[in-house]
Amino acid sequence: MSEKKFASQADLVAKHVSFDRLSDHAYAYTAEGDPNTGIVVGDDAVMVIDTQATPVMAQDVIRRIRTVTDKPIEYVVLSHYHAVRVLGASGYAPRHVIASRDTYDLIVERGEADMKSEIERFPRLFQAVESVPGLTWPTLIFEHRLTLWLGSVQVEIMQLGRGHTKGDTVVWLPKDRVLFSGDLVEYAATPYTGDAYLSDWPATLDAVEALNPAKLVPGRGASLTTPEQVREGLNGTRAFVMEMFEHVKRGVESGQELREIYRATYEALKPKFGHWVIFDHCLPFDVTRAYDEATSFRDPRIWTAQRDKDMWAALA
Ligand SMILES: [Zn+2]
Repeated sequence: MSEKKFASQADLVAKHVSFDRLSDHAYAYTAEGDPNTGIVVGDDAVMVIDTQATPVMAQDVIRRIRTVTDKPIEYVVLSHYHAVRVLGASGYAPRHVIASRDTYDLIVERGEADMKSEIERFPRLFQAVESVPGLTWPTLIFEHRLTLWLGSVQVEIMQLGRGHTKGDTVVWLPKDRVLFSGDLVEYAATPYTGDAYLSDWPATLDAVEALNPAKLVPGRGASLTTPEQVREGLNGTRAFVMEMFEHVKRGVESGQELREIYRATYEALKPKFGHWVIFDHCLPFDVTRAYDEATSFRDPRIWTAQRDKDMWAALA
């Protein structure tokens, strides 16, 4: 059996962290394309959106939050179920961990498999992985939409449609017009679509755009702080998702095998998107899921550590 390494396993350089103030209540913890964390500071409590990968990594987020407020961190929102975003939750000791029912269902169904596979795919992103106490279980589960008032600050926690996963959740501050999108929107970072609903994703981006956010914190990449940048982030993500899926569908229609389709799609997308971080890491997973969706799998199949390795050996 091939022991070919994931592109991401050779990625060992630590990224520079930025902690940006976006409004009176919104902050963003970003790291040059590594997974972002959003922060909402209410009148008497703080909300964290996506946790970082381990409780030890969460401490760096907390350290930065403490430079702007000493209010207790009471809420963690999971934008979706991926391990790299949720396994640091215990580090905040929150009163509630909030997730959509679809995200909860995915944790029940595939959380364990996803944790193992993500840790093997991307070791740098799981610093002090031994500090993870196990899966992160939501304590407050909503369907469609949950409104939470942090004192006078209205927070809308919403599922606008399927995209990066079936459970995708955004956090919207209507008064400040700041949106935290999770991995539904990326900026100068390659969308991972291994668990995606590619047919649905563009319409979900339209729903994000319809909110008309003034600022947007993507799942990866720098905070988008002007309407022009927000549009750029939305358009870039939409272009990648649609073009990648189109190439794969065309390959399927002409009777090509997955391996040929992967090569052709890689060549077609590399000039336009190859400079985005994790392009080489994501593309084999992305094309494999697109092939599944274009053929016989409406719902994404579970990635196990073994399936990851077999796929990578076959394609990369
Ligand atoms: Zn994700």
